[in-house]
Amino acid sequence: MTSTADRTTAPARRRPRALPAAACAAALLLAAGCGSDGGGPGEAKGGVPVVEQGKLTTCTHLPYPPFQSERDGRVVGFDVALVDLVAEDLGVEQKILDTPFENFKTGAFLNSGECDLAAAGMTITDERKKNVDFSLPYFDATQALLASKKSGAASLADVKARTLRLGAQAGTTGESHAKSQGLDPVAFESSDAVLNGLRTGQVDAVVIDYPVVQGWLKDPATADAFRLAEDIETGEQYGFSVKKGNDALRAAIDKALRDAKADGTYDKLYEEWIGPLPASAKDAS
Ligand code: GLN
Repeated sequence: MTSTADRTTAPARRRPRALPAAACAAALLLAAGCGSDGGGPGEAKGGVPVVEQGKLTTCTHLPYPPFQSERDGRVVGFDVALVDLVAEDLGVEQKILDTPFENFKTGAFLNSGECDLAAAGMTITDERKKNVDFSLPYFDATQALLASKKSGAASLADVKARTLRLGAQAGTTGESHAKSQGLDPVAFESSDAVLNGLRTGQVDAVVIDYPVVQGWLKDPATADAFRLAEDIETGEQYGFSVKKGNDALRAAIDKALRDAKADGTYDKLYEEWIGPLPASAKDAS
């Protein structure tokens, strides 16, 4: 297993890092066509183009539990499980590359043919839509303000009024939301660097996607020192992104998402990775 310990403060990597996905092991057990020929070089079932024969290559940014993180040397999570469904439909195996977050906004690694899609707990925004095409939304998210109990920060407005120090993950919607409220958060490169910034007292509070905070608070030491100060309804929805104009893959992703909603697989995976399914998740398409 590759160590993740040095990743918190390391500068954004330029080169993507290949990581094994849980997909193949599961798919092999089920004899679901792991590693099978998708039907010609660079093409999967249904004529869907892929950057590497026999694979569906996903760009992500680690760690982002519960959507993607390394466990026992494999990348697992809600996003990973959903993209496995797409890969299975296409008769290929998912391969995951860890890439800088910035890449998701520009679509650089999709355009250069490094990856077929990006899956990173990524919010669909109009700005990002200029550079990439998104699948159907697959998750409703809010932002959370996690504050040190010592600071007593009660809300973003309170952080602003008392000029407390705020942190966020660089390039994320949490960071842009904070900026839109007139705050100037310290930018951290990854989610674990955000938590580390809070733990080491570099900042008094952080703003980041709610499900990530929910996961952090399961750790008693974290729950002891920090509290969820505000759940900020931003109306965000996550989507998977593909290179602009890659309609064949986008349609395959949408089909897998629709099928998963229809046959209960989505609900099962939601409960496995996120928690009890809210009513809104049942209705979202
Ligand atoms: N949902 C947030 C965004 O899209 C954060 C995603 C992430 O950090 N992986 O900006």
